[in-house]
Amino acid sequence: MNLFGVCAVAATRRHLVTRDASAALSCRVAESFPLLSQVTVGQGRFSDERHSTMTEYQGRNVLGEDAVAELADRIEGSVFTPDDAGYVGSVAAFNLRSQHRPCLVVAAAGAADVRAAVAFAAARDIPVGVMATGHQPFPAADGFLLVTTGAMRTVEIDTERGVARVGAGAVWSDVVELAQAEGLAPLNGSSPLVGVVGFTLGGGLSPFLGRSYGWAADHVVAIEVVTPDGALRRVTAEVEPELFWGLRGGRSNFGIVTELEIGLFPVTSFYGGGIYFPAEHVEAVVRAFPEVVRDAPHAFTCSVALLNFPSVPEIPESLRGRFLAHVRVTHLGSDEEGEKLIAPFRAIGEGMIDTIGRHPYGAYALVHTDPADPFPYEEQGALLAELPARAVDSLVESAQLAAGGLVTVLEIRHLGGALADRPAAASPVAARDAVFNVWGATVGPPEVVDAGMAMLRGMVERLSPWSTGLAYTNFAGRDDRAEDVFTADDLERLRALKRHHDPRNLFRVNNHNVAPE
Ligand SMILES: Cc1cc2nc3c(=O)[nH]c(=O)nc-3n(C[C@H](O)[C@H](O)[C@H](O)COP(=O)(O)OP(=O)(O)OC[C@H]3O[C@@H](n4cnc5c(N)ncnc54)[C@H](O)[C@@H]3O)c2cc1C
Repeated sequence: MNLFGVCAVAATRRHLVTRDASAALSCRVAESFPLLSQVTVGQGRFSDERHSTMTEYQGRNVLGEDAVAELADRIEGSVFTPDDAGYVGSVAAFNLRSQHRPCLVVAAAGAADVRAAVAFAAARDIPVGVMATGHQPFPAADGFLLVTTGAMRTVEIDTERGVARVGAGAVWSDVVELAQAEGLAPLNGSSPLVGVVGFTLGGGLSPFLGRSYGWAADHVVAIEVVTPDGALRRVTAEVEPELFWGLRGGRSNFGIVTELEIGLFPVTSFYGGGIYFPAEHVEAVVRAFPEVVRDAPHAFTCSVALLNFPSVPEIPESLRGRFLAHVRVTHLGSDEEGEKLIAPFRAIGEGMIDTIGRHPYGAYALVHTDPADPFPYEEQGALLAELPARAVDSLVESAQLAAGGLVTVLEIRHLGGALADRPAAASPVAARDAVFNVWGATVGPPEVVDAGMAMLRGMVERLSPWSTGLAYTNFAGRDDRAEDVFTADDLERLRALKRHHDPRNLFRVNNHNVAPE
């Protein structure tokens, strides 16, 4: 049962939304979570104009019908202008609050389409953005050329080299399934539906394998990318090492990645799952968490999420309207060791739902039970360098506020282990200096999200004495900028790279923009 999913979807329905955007993502996971698939999310407009960066282009009229037709002839995939049926679906994002209005969409079928699209935009000085699934929120923009990569959903496993060649549109479920057939696992995230490229080039925190093997970005072997000059390049630690470094953090600032080669690891099962505790145990769970992770081995990963379940019929009666703590665990060692490590949680009392046990690696989605259907959300995160008793008090205070219902999920993840390593070809992941990541999301129409975000910003503010001062790229909020996710030194180096590859800053949409100056 996908509990956060139901929670998010139901929160959406509770605040009744208008419907008109089409957001279609293939959700194989929904089949595994029948309760969720019974709940159809309203496809609606949730955009908030205050987050927009509007520009002047409006579509076919501005670009010229002939030019658009000429481009369409060269594209194997599809081209949409705002006048076309299919345009709305082509820009739909997993986050229903993210509603870009590009003047042109190229739904690329392959690298040649990406090259043609970039060359078209560069010749006309039109900004370029790229979207895979639309899981990450950025300020809405119009007047740009959007490349979507959903059709580039290819995966090939090279067992000899222990790598996967992954197309720009692949999501984690695609890779895990094929890799597991060979006894291998990627450094995937909690949700099967998140895009591999966006996740990995944002750092890539695997809540299953990260503490054992490190950041996904540090295990990229090769990147094929169309740079702003329209060239298709293959970059590695040896070939164009500076671009290789910058892409593994700077993402679409330096081009559109068409294919990634990522490292795989010999993992076929884990001990873990989730335990849901009722509201009366939330404080005890939050206080037990630092004790559980304090001396934990690298093989053990734990996080705690506090969830607000709205009072709607889609939610099982036992959970309806309740505030819960969700303990998530993955252990790559023995079952006995795993049980011993979570003993402080067991001592709190019986969980309402408990899925802890030995599972095949392919069942990873049951640990976090992320949403499988698109929904409207804003998020905010903070990296903590330490979690002393006063920081725990602050978290408990935030937990009590979250119980009010405006924050749908508030989680704290343990980092450290191999995530703290700095390999020779380290990527610009600023989170390796942190020991915890705190993140929250609020779901619903603007007035609810506004109040929820105020609460989340307050939480981040209260945690500032222990914060590194930065957010983890993949969990940054919509309004976070490059300055908020990169260290000052890395940002300076990224800017130099930007001056070299994109001096006009054409690739400034839908990313943490690294301005050339
Ligand atoms: C439910 C949920 C669970 C999550 N779990 C985790 C987790 O466990 N660990 C973690 O680290 N993160 C996690 N995330 C965050 C997620 O990794 C980021 O939101 C990530 O950016 C999503 O990538 P995407 O490609 O799916 O999304 P998109 O919004 O499509 O893209 C995100 C960014 O990547 C860029 N990008 C996409 N494709 C390309 C490309 N081909 N070339 C260059 N740039 C590209 C986009 O321009 C954008 O800047 C989670 C998010 C959600 C909503």
